[in-house]
Amino acid sequence: MGKALIIGAGGVSNVVVHKCCQNSDIFEEICLASRTIEKCDAIVAKLPETKTKVSTAKVDADNTDEVISLIEKFNPDIVINVALPYQDLTIMDACLATGVHYMDTANYEPPDVPKFEYKWQWAYRERFEKAGLTALLGSGFDPGVTGVFCAYAQKHYFDEIHYIDIVDANAGDHGYPFATNFNPEINIREITANGRYFENDDWVEIPPMSMKKTYDLPQIGEKDIYLLYHEELESLSKNIKGIKRIRFWMTFSEKYLTHLKVLENVGMTSIEPIDFEGQKISPLHFLKAVLPDPASLGPRTKGKTNIGCVIQGIKDGKPKTYYVYNVCDHQEAYREVGSQAISYTTGVPAMIGAMMILKGLWKKPGVYNVEEFDPDPFMEALNENGLPWQESFDPILLD
Ligand code: NDP
Repeated sequence: MGKALIIGAGGVSNVVVHKCCQNSDIFEEICLASRTIEKCDAIVAKLPETKTKVSTAKVDADNTDEVISLIEKFNPDIVINVALPYQDLTIMDACLATGVHYMDTANYEPPDVPKFEYKWQWAYRERFEKAGLTALLGSGFDPGVTGVFCAYAQKHYFDEIHYIDIVDANAGDHGYPFATNFNPEINIREITANGRYFENDDWVEIPPMSMKKTYDLPQIGEKDIYLLYHEELESLSKNIKGIKRIRFWMTFSEKYLTHLKVLENVGMTSIEPIDFEGQKISPLHFLKAVLPDPASLGPRTKGKTNIGCVIQGIKDGKPKTYYVYNVCDHQEAYREVGSQAISYTTGVPAMIGAMMILKGLWKKPGVYNVEEFDPDPFMEALNENGLPWQESFDPILLD
């Protein structure tokens, strides 16, 4: 059916590549390109034999011209961006210059200030519309599946949605005293930022990790969850009409938070470069270099993730509640594709997003977040591609 250029060769990319190869009728040919070609070759070396034709290439995606040359050489139908959020705009520019569809799993971030805002990418809407191209933003799990879950609830179960709580729980244990499950720089930037949620048409900002609850999650049990700002809140607060409040919660252990507090107190989580022996170094970049590589956590991580949406609203004039979630087992994911559940739960929806575009089901000129498309084929594809979801109509509500 089509050709995909996949940019980035980290944990998420490894899953995307495996999953594309499991769907060879859709992904007939893929090229895996990244800054370090050896990482692409290492992923490809572990792939089982399938009908998908696979090649690798070297590209610095900070450089639009390099991406353009690669696109011209490989001639893909879509670019799947699973590099870092810093590369989103250069890759979108290259897609516009060459007439290729685009998708990613994280919003663009300026390297110096963490913002978690879509405004830079939404500003491309008209250009993609005029070019007749689709740009699909945030097709990972959160953002990604969480937005599809909300669109599905809206389509099938509610006349009006009033409250959404997205709960992201990771009960996996990798045995290290401290490590992050995905890119440490992006992860630490996310959780050291102020908490923020949307209520009554306004944003409420709170100090980092200052709102905590306990929540009993199916197949995981009772966990401490903390309110964080997460990028899908921005698009969902606009796209779910009539929403009164939307919040995002994530589990953290005491041990994790204590390590993070110490690192923060000694200045290791700052991205601001400091002078060190005649060189400028960013403490956060240095910290990333000394922490375990998230890709190395796969074989060690045991336990499950549970990510879902607790939704309250009105149907036929009556109050209604709904909970939709996925449980993913770290070791099962590792056995299947050689990555733990965090990468797995991001890589599978990234592949599905690209599949939706290639099949023409989610093809619409412009720049869109996942909840703006029909959720049904995506929900079906989750069940078929390793992320089955479950639903209940009597969830525990978060006050
Ligand atoms: P990794 O750090 O493991 O991998 C990133 C990859 O991008 C590396 O191969 C890196 O190359 C490559 N890269 C970095 N800069 C460039 C560049 N300038 N040109 C080409 N390649 C580059 O990250 P993950 O796989 O964990 O995450 C990938 C993306 O997925 C991130 O944007 C992350 O924010 C997002 N994500 C989304 C989630 C969701 O649910 N929506 C959840 C988890 C992650 P090198 O190794 O050479 O530096």
